[in-house]
Amino acid sequence: MSEDELYARFLEERRSEIVDRIAAAAARAGRDPREVLAIAVSKTVGPKEVLLARRAGWTSFGENRPQELGRKLEALGQLPEMAGVRFDMIGNLQKNKINQVIGRVALIHSISSEHLAGAVSTRAEARGLCSDVLLEVNVSGEVSKSGFSPNELRESIDRVIELPGICVRGLMTMAPARDADGARRTFSGLRELAEELRQRTGLALETLSCGMSDDFEIAVEEGSTLVRLGRCVFDQGYALRAIG
Ligand SMILES: *Cc1c(COP(=O)(O)O)cnc(C)c1O
Repeated sequence: MSEDELYARFLEERRSEIVDRIAAAAARAGRDPREVLAIAVSKTVGPKEVLLARRAGWTSFGENRPQELGRKLEALGQLPEMAGVRFDMIGNLQKNKINQVIGRVALIHSISSEHLAGAVSTRAEARGLCSDVLLEVNVSGEVSKSGFSPNELRESIDRVIELPGICVRGLMTMAPARDADGARRTFSGLRELAEELRQRTGLALETLSCGMSDDFEIAVEEGSTLVRLGRCVFDQGYALRAIG
């Protein structure tokens, strides 16, 4: 078997294990697994691996660099096999790169400040678009993490949802690394904050983007509707572990 064939087989087997684990985590929480979208974070692999992942069943991808997003769309965008596939922007977005992203992604996960929300809105509106976005919240309070603090978001939300060029679809967060209890508190905190903001604004805020390779099962148990999976999808050296 060629190296590509072996990798394709790995991608398929890994995907089915991930799908099973998401279903089991949803069942533990009494949730319908169809509520949870898993996106394959392709930031560390090239277009060839994305195409193999598509063949293995992945239909949604996440990128964290506008330039890399562009490279993959150019390489793959016209292929019939990629019809219906979506890309999301999940990483920090610099203001001067916003135009490279608007209109090319299904969802921007990383609106981390009111200032950035305004900048994306202005650029989308100039092109007659409304960009679907998530507001990134620093639930855990770690200084290394970007995003609105919960209190900043409470204070900003009414102005942010009035911006004409963005449609706020929900919230996104990142959990502390290697800390299962901290991750669980972070995810439940995101869910509770979304519930509070739904009541206050009347918005559906239907998307909760949380959970990565190390903690996606905890995230699904705590209400995530979108898990962003990189290493566990693409890296043959990454061992899926039982959750803590
Ligand atoms: C890289 C990245 C992921 C995927 O992380 P893994 O631990 O590889 O699953 C998810 N979200 C964001 C924002 C990322 O930058």
